[in-house]
Amino acid sequence: MSKKLIKELQSVLGARGVLPASDTGPYFKDMMGYYSGDSVPVLRPADTLQVAEAVKICAKHHMPIVPQGGHTGLCGGGVALSGKPSVILSLERMNRVLAVDADCYSITTEAGVVLQTIHDAAQRVDREFAMDWGARGSAMVGGALSTNGGGLNVLRYGTSRDQVLGLEVVLPDGSVWDGLRSLRKDASGYDLKHMFIGAEGTLGIITKACLKLHPQQPVSQSLFGAIADFPRLMKLFETARQVGGNNLSAFELVPGDGMRRMSSQFPAISQPLDTNAEWCVLIRYSGTEAAAVEALLTTLFERAFEDSLLSDAVISQSIAQEQNLWAMRDHLPPENLWSQRKLKWDVSVPINRMVEFINQAKAQLRQQRPQGRFYAFGHVGDGNLHTIIFPGDDDGADYDTVCANLYKMVDELVWSLGGSICAEHGVGIENVQRLHGQKSTLELDMMRNIKGLFDPQGLMNPGKLIPDA
Ligand SMILES: Cc1cc2nc3c(=O)[nH]c(=O)nc-3n(C[C@H](O)[C@H](O)[C@H](O)COP(=O)(O)OP(=O)(O)OC[C@H]3O[C@@H](n4cnc5c(N)ncnc54)[C@H](O)[C@@H]3O)c2cc1C
Repeated sequence: MSKKLIKELQSVLGARGVLPASDTGPYFKDMMGYYSGDSVPVLRPADTLQVAEAVKICAKHHMPIVPQGGHTGLCGGGVALSGKPSVILSLERMNRVLAVDADCYSITTEAGVVLQTIHDAAQRVDREFAMDWGARGSAMVGGALSTNGGGLNVLRYGTSRDQVLGLEVVLPDGSVWDGLRSLRKDASGYDLKHMFIGAEGTLGIITKACLKLHPQQPVSQSLFGAIADFPRLMKLFETARQVGGNNLSAFELVPGDGMRRMSSQFPAISQPLDTNAEWCVLIRYSGTEAAAVEALLTTLFERAFEDSLLSDAVISQSIAQEQNLWAMRDHLPPENLWSQRKLKWDVSVPINRMVEFINQAKAQLRQQRPQGRFYAFGHVGDGNLHTIIFPGDDDGADYDTVCANLYKMVDELVWSLGGSICAEHGVGIENVQRLHGQKSTLELDMMRNIKGLFDPQGLMNPGKLIPDA
């Protein structure tokens, strides 16, 4: 990287605002250790003006920019590609909550605010914030919106996209688009904010966001149950919905082996049930009245047993038990539980095809790789399953070929069911070339045309989201 470019960047960002490549260890490797990119200089602007000036300088020098938030993304979107000159632009210093408006049920923050900070700010004014998942203590607003994160509350409130009222964005030429509105309705033409949500930094850098808050639901109580008859999982979901109505806030599939493995890996998390069930569910109802929420859960409990949908179940009886259930849920990602090599998918299918997806994936795996092991957990209510295959012991086959065949097997199954291989974690570099199998040429061309319009030099997060032509 030219000394002239670094000097120009330092002149607008100051010494703290530019870290040399030799000093950027934590920035080039993602949180789970799946992806590491080149160690490149890291820009750390303190405000929107500095982002704009830095982007202008990079545009002048044709220098690609990789935006980075909390670095919790699971598809490698925030790492610098190997062997390609670029800079990382971290939003970590832009971490101020700018306004909390309880009357308008909205909060305005800079892009580097972590989700947990927003939950805390919302709670202080008796409001609830929807965007919530295991990485809540590190994931930042800009990154969460850029991947259109989902998580635990989608059933009730929708995805991150549904939480956005307005955005401020620095465009690839350094101009600042002020779309930071708090309007609930605005039918004055193209809703441009949606271009940047789920765009993974390929069209510009989100610098501020105005997000929705919701009435607080101070009471949450959950049922944890062992599924008696897996093919009737959706009947259980339907019952939970009918009984709970709008009080149903989460419906998660928990693999029995994941729950049992926790006793050795995380002894502080207690086992809710002593069961050998293959699949369990974690169902949460939320509301304002403790007695009403408990009554709903009790009704669900009774109906589920009357209809033989569950073989065993508990309802949390204290805040500590409730927290224990959700701590268990947060620890289900397989890297917490097993060190074996694995392949992973973040799959969505129409919700009435979840059972079919799981059964077919397991059957095809048995045929193609008998020593392989299937593991899945996730958001049944959203048709979203985090799916893992442990390929198992080496049988002499070329491992790359084994992986490629397994990816093809699951991808094609997902597509045959009308699903997506990028449900909520985004595309990044992990899925980018596989999008050819999911999207039509016309759709990919439309994406390329949009990219060309916003970023004619192709400097914003190159190599991510849009597959090669
Ligand atoms: C333990 C764990 C559990 C998780 N659970 C879930 C889950 O349940 N649901 C879910 O949806 N996700 C989940 N994730 C994934 C992850 O938290 C999300 O993808 C997150 O939203 C990314 O935010 P980040 O700030 O870490 O972004 P990063 O990882 O830093 O970046 C993600 C992408 O956004 C781009 N980007 C970052 N900031 C900006 C910006 N300001 N402007 C433009 N582009 C930007 C980056 O270039 C990159 O492409 C989980 C991750 C972990 C580690």
